[in-house]
Amino acid sequence: MTKENDTLSLFDSHCHLNFSVFDKDRLQVLSQAEKAAVSHICIPATQQVEWPSLINESELLSQVSPVSIVTALGLHPWFISEHHPEHLNVLDTLLQQRPAGVVAIGETGLDFFDRNMTPQTKAKQLELFTGQVELACLHQMPLIIHGRKSHDDILKVLRRCKPERAGIIHGFSGSEQQAGEYLKLGFKLGFGGGITYPRARKTRHLAATAPIDSIVLETDAPDMPLNGYQGQRNEPGRVKLVAECLAELRGMSLPEVAEATSHNCRTLFRI
Ligand SMILES: [Zn+2]
Repeated sequence: MTKENDTLSLFDSHCHLNFSVFDKDRLQVLSQAEKAAVSHICIPATQQVEWPSLINESELLSQVSPVSIVTALGLHPWFISEHHPEHLNVLDTLLQQRPAGVVAIGETGLDFFDRNMTPQTKAKQLELFTGQVELACLHQMPLIIHGRKSHDDILKVLRRCKPERAGIIHGFSGSEQQAGEYLKLGFKLGFGGGITYPRARKTRHLAATAPIDSIVLETDAPDMPLNGYQGQRNEPGRVKLVAECLAELRGMSLPEVAEATSHNCRTLFRI
């Protein structure tokens, strides 16, 4: 381990470490992450069935792992057929109990990428997303939001509900104008492996120029492989490569990027 790692502290704000693809070597993945200077990971849930085990197992894992683990509870738009409106009531009840380690609502959001989506599916996404934003207001929690071909619709809901603690727009790749609108609402932009691809010029420009206090790092592991790692399972330790890339894009040092982005996460999640 380099000396540099002793002072670095990175926060992977978005990692699906509870997915079964990590069942065989989860602890090893965490120890690799620690070697890559990762001190904190936030695991967002994607569907109701995950919530109880995510809360319990993350607490256990946190006790044996060198990396601190926090979680978010939410309903991801990709799993729309698994969601029922009453899951919002289940979430409300769970959040009232203030379960240990739960720091946000997510992963929620809207994904309108599929052009063949029925109006009913779109309406259901919107209903569940709005419900989760309302719960964020009610429980005063930040949100972790997934958006694809839907940023203007997301912004409409956020402007109407105005969640006080805002949150993170994860894996952001929208326009500069949309980014500006999110920042006005107090949201942070999550940047991950996407910025390591030279062809992602728009997103790289945004990552290079957005105020550093509005940026958090993420891997979205096991998804969103970095440039050079296509076809492989993504891992939380690679958030260091994202940080290095961001440092280069911004003309900052790696410790400066690590310090600022980790601070942003800790402030947002109040840890
Ligand atoms: Zn995700």
